Amino acid sequence: MNVGNEVFFDLTKDKFREECGVFGILDTSFQNSNASLMSYYGLFALQHRGQESCGIAYSDGETVEVKKDMGLVSEVFSRNVLDEMGGVAAIGHVRYSTKGDSKRINAQPISVNYKLGTIAVAHNGTLVNADVVRELMEDGGVIFQTDSDSEVILNLIARSVKRGFRTAIKEAMQAVKGSYAIVMLTENSLIGARDPYGIRPLCLGKKGDQYLLSSESCAFDAVGGELIRDVKPGEIIIITKDGIESINEVEQTITSTCSFEYIYFARPDSQMDDIGIYKARERAGEILAKNHPVDADVVTGAPDSGIPAAVGFSRASGIPYEIGLVKNRYIGRTFISPTQEMREHSVHVKMNALRANVEGKRIVLIDDSIVRGTTGKRLITLLKEAGALEVHLRISSPKVQYPCYFGIDTPYRSDLMASASSTEEMSEMIGADSLEFLTIDELIESLGGRDRFCMGCFSGVYPLSTPVSM
Ligand code: SF4
Repeated sequence: MNVGNEVFFDLTKDKFREECGVFGILDTSFQNSNASLMSYYGLFALQHRGQESCGIAYSDGETVEVKKDMGLVSEVFSRNVLDEMGGVAAIGHVRYSTKGDSKRINAQPISVNYKLGTIAVAHNGTLVNADVVRELMEDGGVIFQTDSDSEVILNLIARSVKRGFRTAIKEAMQAVKGSYAIVMLTENSLIGARDPYGIRPLCLGKKGDQYLLSSESCAFDAVGGELIRDVKPGEIIIITKDGIESINEVEQTITSTCSFEYIYFARPDSQMDDIGIYKARERAGEILAKNHPVDADVVTGAPDSGIPAAVGFSRASGIPYEIGLVKNRYIGRTFISPTQEMREHSVHVKMNALRANVEGKRIVLIDDSIVRGTTGKRLITLLKEAGALEVHLRISSPKVQYPCYFGIDTPYRSDLMASASSTEEMSEMIGADSLEFLTIDELIESLGGRDRFCMGCFSGVYPLSTPVSM
């Protein structure tokens, strides 16, 4: 393949995509009115989890307001707007959609007024029975404003909230099936809930009198807070000016946190369920070097997510690590698509090989996953065009053979390269001199040896019934 004939490429198009990130804050003294500004910084740290729309719902202790729009956090909020918003409590959301179209009405948080006030909700995950529950509710007269399955949860809670939040949330959690990490805001409380399998992450933090909730702990660092612990699978946390109350009364299940969070989605400076993301990726690289070795001169990582595993591979193998590929970080969504005559060069605008480090060398290239196979093929072509003698591809995850039904944007199974091809066939199609993957057992080893993760997209065995098997 000659990359010169390829259209300008976007590396993220050949990755599984996380759908959302959530953040929440409540000041138990009700004195600090910086909750919106803090949420802004928290959402900034979570921007990698969704770039299509974002929003913040905030409360001054008496009313809940929502500001949201299409665009990045930096595009939707200005300093003046945030100062005007204020708030002693807030929740925030960054969104990339699969369920519900990409349009403003589906941006979150979404809110509903009920007899006693307002509830706003921000949700990361996918409900596998949302359509069924929605239809039942519509038959009962409920009118939905959005296409989003998050509104199903919101309406379930609003319907029975007069019997108390504790009961309403518990009943909603019993009615919905799927993956969810939810933060909710009322005039005077912040609530967090994680699905009974703990598929999507949610953690609890603190900064002085302010309690924090977030999809990832890196957002606590961004606001000067600290991680207390992960919200447990099935746990509901209610935070008011009286402090924290934890409820865990849903059915007990086997914890099945998404293993792809550790491989690719989460930021390397986050910690999830007591596992440091960077260290897990580095260990995966060490295991690859030990169990899938190769004779080579240089190890390099596909920017950016392949780099920690490449460092681990280099350390365990003794083969020096070098930067082999350089990514241009300044290409935004407004980048002008190349004209026909520019296409030959355009592929090098986004990513280029570092000739001085790869020419005349045998390279081990580490990437985190193969989805359609287009990225690996392009990176190998770039390295070979820059003079690499051999490129051996090592992947720090097992073969992705099945789609995800739990809040991750995945292609159809037929588009997953590993679903229909052997490793040898994939190696040939990608143009690698050899190709090896981490096995499922090796992935578990890299995550500390405890089998408590969803591996559905690798094994086809999911923690709960999927729309296909229901
Ligand atoms: S199927 Fe894959 S991407 Fe989806 S939750 Fe499970 S491990 Fe994560």
